[in-house]
Amino acid sequence: NDFNHMRFVCSAPTPRAFPAPAGPEIAFAGRSNAGKSSALNAICGRTGLARTSKTPGRTQAINFFVGEALCFADLPGYGYARVPPKTKAAWQALIEHYLGQREPLAGVVLIMDARRPLTDFDRQLLEWGGAYGLAFHLVLTKADKLPRSQQIEALRGVERRVDGASAQLFSASKRFGIDEARETIAALAYP
Ligand code: GDP
Repeated sequence: NDFNHMRFVCSAPTPRAFPAPAGPEIAFAGRSNAGKSSALNAICGRTGLARTSKTPGRTQAINFFVGEALCFADLPGYGYARVPPKTKAAWQALIEHYLGQREPLAGVVLIMDARRPLTDFDRQLLEWGGAYGLAFHLVLTKADKLPRSQQIEALRGVERRVDGASAQLFSASKRFGIDEARETIAALAYP
């Protein structure tokens, strides 16, 4: 199983630093603190692969991971109030370039906090990705923080508001949704 064998390749602050394509690539996106690193680590069956950052919004580079037949790109998130406009512009340029130009990109996994999905960050990303015809899979993580009825409500709400994307519930800490995420990612990479 390829998911258990992903390894870090490089951290690219600019498009010139992107590694050569090495198979279909899946991007992971999410607002800062949404739970992206924890989700990525859970999907890869590891604890320290993606750095769960204690300093919010610090990562401004795309981190690339490679397995035997699959690559992951961990996109930097933002969403904390006091980001200087220059930093935000650089982030925007990097992400837009990646989404629009990255040849092996097969789909985007958008990690959202199940308690507040579809933030401005998420909508922005869906808009850019939609413009490039990218496939999205929406992962509602930290679902363990909601009672079951509200989990279902959150999922239905997202499905209703976003056209043409798949969506699921997930919890890194309670470890549910991992198999579903893996299956969906495999289907995006190998349609
Ligand atoms: P990132 O900034 O999107 O990479 O978010 P992190 O993965 O670093 O997680 C942000 C915070 O949410 C951390 O305190 C995590 O422990 C917590 N967290 C992440 N995933 C879950 C989850 O599935 N359930 C719960 N209860 N907490 C989570």
